[in-house]
Amino acid sequence: MKNTILIVEDETAIREMLTFSLMQTGYIVLQAKTALEALKILEDVSPDMAIIDWGLPQVSGLELVERIREDEVIADMPIIMLTAKAQEEDKVKGLETGVDDYMTKPVSIKELQARIKAQLRRLGGFKKTHAITVGPIKMDLDAHTIVIADEELKLSITEFNLLKLFMKTPNKLLSREQILNHVWGRNSFVELRTVDVHILRLRKSLKKYKLDRMLQTVRGAGYKFCIEE
Ligand code: CA
Repeated sequence: MKNTILIVEDETAIREMLTFSLMQTGYIVLQAKTALEALKILEDVSPDMAIIDWGLPQVSGLELVERIREDEVIADMPIIMLTAKAQEEDKVKGLETGVDDYMTKPVSIKELQARIKAQLRRLGGFKKTHAITVGPIKMDLDAHTIVIADEELKLSITEFNLLKLFMKTPNKLLSREQILNHVWGRNSFVELRTVDVHILRLRKSLKKYKLDRMLQTVRGAGYKFCIEE
């Protein structure tokens, strides 16, 4: 299965050069010119990793990394930061923010490819198959199907995305705001109550398999997808 890499770089020539060579290697490449563009993409997709330029207009690459690390769903995404600044103090700042690896411009494609491979190896796990299995629930992210006990569970897009979010963050408390941002997007005008409505629907669908109890309400805090160890 192909890995998806997000490139965030405002310099067109560099962005296109990176995109071209990574696509040739067989990666699926998503491109963003700014941090805000990147965040918009990340609302819908969770790439396997990101390559982020430090010097971006308006919101810097470093701030983008901070935003990503605060986000429950994509917090663990490996990030390689590109920088024109070779100073050690900047690198330290970047590593403290949660950058996994560093490359100083001009970027050697060969070296970048090797570093990408290293990060993806470290990542391992479910990303390679694009399928998530949690307890008896098997979710195929490419085919958009869910199978429970050899039976296909059909869900609406919203409920599918909701379940996907929960399956990616088992046993973790998610606030309604976090759920809303991930399933509907940060800039949507959906009310928090809508989250509850769709949670109820998802619970109903899971009830048939006696799995509705996995989706627990944490009073005054949000929801949690509980998996028995
Ligand atoms: Ca730049």
